[in-house]
Amino acid sequence: MNLERTALLMQNKTLSPRIAIIGAGPAGLMAAETLLAGDAQVDIYDAMPSAGRKLLLAGKGGLNLTHSESYDKFIARYGERSEILKPYLDLFKPDDLRVWAQELGIETFIGSSGKVFPKGMAAAPLLKAWMMRLREQGANFYFRHHWLGWNEKNGLRFETAQGEVLTEFDAVILALGGGSRPETGSTAAWIPILESHGIEIAPLKPANCGFDIQWSEHLKTRFAGSPVKTVKLSFGDIKRKGEFVITEKGIEGSLIYAFSAALREEIEARGSATIHLDLLPDWSEEKLQKNLSQPRGSRSLSSHLKKKIGLSGVKASLLWEYLPKENRDDTALLSATIKSLSLVLLATRPLKEAISSAGGAKFEALDQNLMLRAMPGVFCAGEMLDWEAPTGGYLLTTCFATGRAVGKGALDWVISNNLPFA
Ligand SMILES: Cc1cc2nc3c(=O)[nH]c(=O)nc-3n(C[C@H](O)[C@H](O)[C@H](O)COP(=O)(O)OP(=O)(O)OC[C@H]3O[C@@H](n4cnc5c(N)ncnc54)[C@H](O)[C@@H]3O)c2cc1C
Repeated sequence: MNLERTALLMQNKTLSPRIAIIGAGPAGLMAAETLLAGDAQVDIYDAMPSAGRKLLLAGKGGLNLTHSESYDKFIARYGERSEILKPYLDLFKPDDLRVWAQELGIETFIGSSGKVFPKGMAAAPLLKAWMMRLREQGANFYFRHHWLGWNEKNGLRFETAQGEVLTEFDAVILALGGGSRPETGSTAAWIPILESHGIEIAPLKPANCGFDIQWSEHLKTRFAGSPVKTVKLSFGDIKRKGEFVITEKGIEGSLIYAFSAALREEIEARGSATIHLDLLPDWSEEKLQKNLSQPRGSRSLSSHLKKKIGLSGVKASLLWEYLPKENRDDTALLSATIKSLSLVLLATRPLKEAISSAGGAKFEALDQNLMLRAMPGVFCAGEMLDWEAPTGGYLLTTCFATGRAVGKGALDWVISNNLPFA
């Protein structure tokens, strides 16, 4: 707290506590909303020229806000972080998120897979309504302010076009995001700053990411960008139906993202990961074999596959990529390969291309209010914390929920430190 404020408080002139939020993404904005409801003075800083750049990017493919499955199933999606995250999610469950969006004037709907989207799918209307409400509630925004850390008197340092700005607060909320898509502002430049204060950070890794595969020139040039619909992917004991996209370097897309944590760990441990694709999940191997055994006359094998089992285009090319020419007349082997095509993944695509990042500020460094134990009055929320989740609305829900939790935690902290309210 600065001297001027201390003097005013000693003269018994009460003031709202001043709380800084650094990072105007979903987590930071939710923290702001919670603090404003508690009558705090809220200043929000962001390095970018406007708020919520990653949220807007997320809206481009259809903003998946949350998921409608049972709450137990929902919580289980966070894997080994389920237990740690549950108390925060309990404060802001998927249904609460839908009510919150509705109060902003954004109706939501449940898609066929149980995922929840805003009607209209985009993020821009939600962000616009939210920013307007926050401004009306008294939030002060400072864009193009790149946080550099603290000075020796615990003042916050920001780099701006006008030079360095220093400012002091009663509490600070960091909501600085992960390390994917740095063009949205989530550059992870906060890591060395927190590490220099002794805070333990789990290294950031790509999550919900694509993988490298060594494709032939033919597959790469003819099919990069092509969707592969609907296949069943197996890795270990887990099987799931869905679709993915062939890229110049390998594969990406929702089906791959669902397996990405396990695949990344397998590659880390063994140098590569082998997945198995069922190219025609609705066909049994017996039925495939029966149909393919029918005489093909003068037809090419490709035409035979297309006519008898409907396999063509990118799926057929994937099959030819892995089945040597000399084995293609073996109907049993052909059918077995269609049901279980092995693809070897060599590496994750770089973090900057991923949807999200794993790793971040370790929970051991934080108390139950997500305040850094080593830095009282400094809280962390959102993707910068050490958790990961698949796509499906799980990422945003936890960013919102932890944003709400730190807002509440910071209010409790300033109250318990006798910072009175106006
Ligand atoms: C293509 C794409 C699609 C996605 N789709 C979905 C989806 O449909 N559903 C879903 O649940 N999730 C989705 N996500 C993930 C989701 O958008 C993120 O998990 C979420 O935005 C993270 O919120 P956050 O507030 O923690 O951080 P961010 O949204 O990353 O915000 C962090 C903010 O901090 C600012 N900042 C960082 N460093 C500094 C600094 N030093 N000084 C000042 N400001 C700084 C940044 O400029 C940024 O504004 C998607 C992500 C991508 C990339």
